Amino acid sequence: MRMIGLLGGMSWESSAEYYRLANEFVRERLGGLHSARCLLHSVDFAVIEEMQVQGRWDDAGAELATAARSLQAGGADLILLCTNTMHLVADQVQAAVDVPLLHIGDVTARAVLDAGLRRIGLLGTAFTMEQPFLLDRLAGHDLDVLVPEPADRAEVHRVIYDELCLGVLREESRQIYREVIGRLVDRGAEGIVLGCTEIELLVGAADSPVPVFPTTALHVRAAVEVALRE
Ligand code: GLU
Repeated sequence: MRMIGLLGGMSWESSAEYYRLANEFVRERLGGLHSARCLLHSVDFAVIEEMQVQGRWDDAGAELATAARSLQAGGADLILLCTNTMHLVADQVQAAVDVPLLHIGDVTARAVLDAGLRRIGLLGTAFTMEQPFLLDRLAGHDLDVLVPEPADRAEVHRVIYDELCLGVLREESRQIYREVIGRLVDRGAEGIVLGCTEIELLVGAADSPVPVFPTTALHVRAAVEVALRE
C-alpha cells in the first residue's frame, strides 16, 4: 500500500475527516484490521488564514511547499492538500515535490462527470467561489459552474470561517445552506459541489434536491484508490 501524505490543518476539523475516511475506505477495500498508511503534516491555520486575508498567497504557498517536502521526506507517495481554497497555490506546492499532488478539482470533476452531470453549483470560501483557480479547473473538464449571488456567497463564507472551521455546527446555518442550494438549483444546477472541506460536516444529500459532491470524501476515496493500485 502506498503512503498517503495529508497536508492538513486547514482546518483540522476537516483534516480529522480525511484521516477517519482514509482508514474507513481502506478497511472497506481490504477488510479486517487493515488501515491507511498515511502521514499528516498539520499546519497552524491561524497563520495561513492571516496570509489569505492579506493576499500573501506566495508566502502561504511557500509554507505549504515546505510542508509538502517534509511529507515527501517522510515517505509519502502522493500528497493531498486537504483544502479547496489552498489549491490556489497547488502549482507552487506541486513544484516543490516529485510525488504527485492529487488535485481536488480533478477528482471532483471526475465524480460529477461519472454521475452524468455537467451544470453544477459550487459552494466554498469566497476565494474559491470568486477566484479562477478552482472554477477554471472544473471548467477545464467541460463543466458549467454556477456560484451563488454575492449576498449568499458572503453568508456561505462567513459560516465556514466563523463556525465550521471552529467545530461549530448550527441548525440556522444548515438552513441557510439549504436555501442557497435551492437558489442554485432554481438557476439550473444539476448537482452541488461542496467545495470546502468542512461543508460536508454541516450538509449532505438530505439537504439538497439534487446530488451533492462532497470534496473531502471524494478526495480521500481517490487517494485510497491510488494507494491501493497494483
Ligand atoms: N477547508 C476549507 C476549504 O476547503 C477552507 C479553509 C481554508 O481556507 O483552507 O476551502
